[in-house]
Amino acid sequence: MEKVELSIVIPIYNEEENLPILYEKLKNVLEKLGKNYEIIFVNDGSTDRSWEIIKEFSLKDPHVVGVNFRKNFGQTAAMSAGFETAKGEIIITMDGDLQNDPEDIPRLLELIDEGYDIVSGWRKDRKDAFISRTLPSRIANWLISKVTGVHLHDYGCSLKAYRSEVAKNLDFYGEMHRFLPALSKAIGAKVTEIPVKHHPRIYGKSKYGISRTFKVLLDLILVKFLLDYRTKPLRILGGSGAVLLLLGAAVLLYLVGIKLFLGQDIGNRPLLIFGTLFFLSGIQLISTGIVAELITRTYYESQGKRPYLIREIIRNQKLETVNRGLVEEKVN
Ligand code: UDP
Ligand code: MG
Repeated sequence: MEKVELSIVIPIYNEEENLPILYEKLKNVLEKLGKNYEIIFVNDGSTDRSWEIIKEFSLKDPHVVGVNFRKNFGQTAAMSAGFETAKGEIIITMDGDLQNDPEDIPRLLELIDEGYDIVSGWRKDRKDAFISRTLPSRIANWLISKVTGVHLHDYGCSLKAYRSEVAKNLDFYGEMHRFLPALSKAIGAKVTEIPVKHHPRIYGKSKYGISRTFKVLLDLILVKFLLDYRTKPLRILGGSGAVLLLLGAAVLLYLVGIKLFLGQDIGNRPLLIFGTLFFLSGIQLISTGIVAELITRTYYESQGKRPYLIREIIRNQKLETVNRGLVEEKVN
């Protein structure tokens, strides 16, 4: 069987009007590239004719792969299923609503060829409602950039290209797909961005509103944790726990001293409450940290993951490119 060079992954949730136009545009661009490609449509529980349309495409075109979810699991889940299905060396994700432009694909690929592992689109001239979408997303982008230390202008843009060994080693949950470039820092990926076109949505409705911003903020906390402490949760939890514990112990000792040596009443002193709270929270945090350490071990061991990634090894004077530490390596 011929090797697949390029996989396009597109989550689809009620995009029946957009699908035929998108398919035509994609075909146009992809045929010109001269690469062996596949287009993976992941139908995320659409209630319109989207899946029928995808089935029709795949019956007449062997390049089309259709994945049909049993219900609506969300865009991130759909992307995850797409990544798992993808056979290509390079994976490109995009929206199925024609807001991303397939014409940008060749430029993403050029940057991958230059050696980047992830190329992220930047909707420099974004065509979405300002107050409900563009403004919150600007603020979120600024915050994500500060917190994660991976500096992009537009994390939310779906149009991205990934080297597949990187894509397949990212974990995603919740609204996590926008954090993939940031999470990829944990495995040492080279990330860059380029401005891409963005079109207003013409057919169908956007599936999100402003509430997404809050979910994104919660995810950001998790991402920060995953990036900096995933292999050593005890450092942050136990560290802050130890500080509280010591502080609490000092306060309580001080109060005991007052009681024993000065004979004063301590029952009505606010400091007693603080001391007790600090002491107990300290114990709580340290135990949580220890539990988290155990869970971390289960996480790596159960999935055959390792807390490192090797790019190359030189042995017998020969350079081998390996991806040791990656999930796929388990089969060898
Ligand atoms: N989508 C999906 N499942 C969902 C919501 C959205 O697969 O639960 C798809 C949707 O069909 C589109 C892409 O994800 O292809 C982006 O969705 P949308 O255009 O609504 O998001 P926006 O561009 O408004 O951020
Ligand atoms: Mg859209």
